[in-house]
Amino acid sequence: MSLNKKSVDDINVAGKRVLCRCDFNVPLKEGKITDENRLVAALPTIKKLIADGGKVILCSHLGKPKGEPKPELSLAPVAARLSELLGQEVKFAADPEVVGANAKAAVEAMKDGEVILLENTRYRAEETKNGEAFSKDLASLCDVFVNDAFGTAHRAHCSNVGVAELADEAVVGYLMQKEIDFLGKAVEDPVRPFVAILGGAKVADKLNVISNLLEKCDTLIIGGGMAYTFLKAQGHEIGTSLVDETKLDYCKEMLEKAEKLGKKLLLPVDSATISAFPNPIDAEVAVEIHTVEDMVADRMCCDIGPKTAEIYAEAAKTAKTVVWNGPMGVFENPTLAAGTIAVAKALAETDATTIIGGGDSAAAVNQLGFGDKMSHISTGGGASLEFLEGKVLPGVAAANDR
Ligand code: ATP
Repeated sequence: MSLNKKSVDDINVAGKRVLCRCDFNVPLKEGKITDENRLVAALPTIKKLIADGGKVILCSHLGKPKGEPKPELSLAPVAARLSELLGQEVKFAADPEVVGANAKAAVEAMKDGEVILLENTRYRAEETKNGEAFSKDLASLCDVFVNDAFGTAHRAHCSNVGVAELADEAVVGYLMQKEIDFLGKAVEDPVRPFVAILGGAKVADKLNVISNLLEKCDTLIIGGGMAYTFLKAQGHEIGTSLVDETKLDYCKEMLEKAEKLGKKLLLPVDSATISAFPNPIDAEVAVEIHTVEDMVADRMCCDIGPKTAEIYAEAAKTAKTVVWNGPMGVFENPTLAAGTIAVAKALAETDATTIIGGGDSAAAVNQLGFGDKMSHISTGGGASLEFLEGKVLPGVAAANDR
């Protein structure tokens, strides 16, 4: 699927004020950035705008300051790190109103090829409500708007949708293009076999993803907490495992849908079980492996078992396209991370196009050191999920058509 939206390659920003919405929502610990993947992913677009001689005004949200200035959620550390990554000063326009007197003066003083970063857009209460006043403020700063923030593309906020509608020109950046190209191609025109792997805690969070992916993929693999509602729907003993009793009928429907469409739907054949959910989450646990048939009433399934890991890894290895979202078990606990590691390893070893759908799975793959072995790791967890559901992302829709 190619994205039918104007991009940074279709415009000339020389001498113009360009507002570029990035996703600089990075984890911070005591003012230090602990994972800078999102900053690195934003560089190609920023470099292109600088090279073309634009006045580059960057903006992003960071965390949830809930509409008021919170010093611990200031983007100042991001400006400092971006300056190092770009090898050129990124001036920070400190301003409690984001687009107040200080930011306006900073933009006024810009020369072509210079870069400034505005303060956290969520310091403004209108941001998450797509309120007009803040959208107008942002639009007043720029001649051209570039949206490169895939991570928030599933939300309609001032800094990605409101401003796009008011700006003279609104286009997408390289990261946005890359995300949509990878995810879009996988879902709409995959090289087959196409295997989708879904995990995570709850079935309810992924209802539409399961249904949509069943239509597109050849094999759907289900792991994590959500697998046990499926197993219960099939009539198996699941002990005290996570279950959503209200979704048993839905799971039955999906099992029937898979059968009707001739798709493989793989569920765990064995699980790593413990006596009670670990507290704290990384507490030592005593694991017993139980197969689906010999599962007992007083144990809880918290990871796929070794046989299942083997089957899932094998299925992933024979694929030509793999999309993975959500961990296979309670991977925060080292004893319960084996299934997630096995799947990550299988994906790292295959020649298939491998796409990791953000969030926990992206973090897991990066922590395990498999990041550079994947074809694409999405910078957006929620956005990639909504895309896999087949939804139109408002942040993408708001850009000008080609
Ligand atoms: P991603 O972030 O990759 O999109 P996700 O965040 O949507 O995935 P969640 O639904 O939040 O996934 O689920 C992740 C959580 O699921 C993890 O914290 C993990 O501990 C938990 N989990 C996984 N398997 C189980 C299980 N068998 N029982 C209970 N919790 C589980």
